[in-house]
Amino acid sequence: MRALVVGRFQPFHLGHLEMVREILKEAKSIIIGIGSAQYSHTLKDPFTAGERHLMISTTLEENKIYDFYLVPIEDVNSNPLWVAHVESLTPKFDRLYSNNPLVRRLFIEKRYRVDSVNLLNRDRWSGTRIREKMLKGGKWQEDVPQQVSRIVEEIDGVQRLRDLAREDVG
Ligand code: NAP
Repeated sequence: MRALVVGRFQPFHLGHLEMVREILKEAKSIIIGIGSAQYSHTLKDPFTAGERHLMISTTLEENKIYDFYLVPIEDVNSNPLWVAHVESLTPKFDRLYSNNPLVRRLFIEKRYRVDSVNLLNRDRWSGTRIREKMLKGGKWQEDVPQQVSRIVEEIDGVQRLRDLAREDVG
């Protein structure tokens, strides 16, 4: 069985890593769609698709997880067309794992089996909270794999977020 998950992974955190491990207990391989691939350099979506690709592939490989395919997926301006758009970019898959109500609905209407994912440690492992910690000088490194922490430092990601948050004083 080949599974699909789609998320924005802004950034890829320890909850996402546990989710991949859980899904691979049931699936032979996993396709990880990097959603909203066209967005970067905003407070909600600070990292580019390439940076997110590097975060996920490095983390999984260094954790000896190799049964994955990474596919950047740009948004489209029509929800009913989105599933066909995803299908056009990914290898064939048998099942979608998601908790996002819109994503679930769109795949159910196309007759896919849709399962839920376990959201662990949600009060800490949340992209929104991690980005807030980065902005406010909190200990965000504890909530992401060490590989992600390394890459965020390499690309000066925290300073990028802080610059994006600055009000224009010009
Ligand atoms: P998602 O990955 O399904 O996540 C939904 C929520 O669950 C997010 O708050 C996410 O938080 C959280 N989550 C997911 N896995 C988790 C885990 N293991 N542990 C803790 N929390 C977890 O939804 P999404 O991030 O909104 O991604 C869906 C993508 O599909 C988006 O890029 C969206 O634009 C795209 N999409 C596009 C269209 C279109 O183009 N028309 C239509 C539908 C969807 P985190 O922030 O922590 O990940």
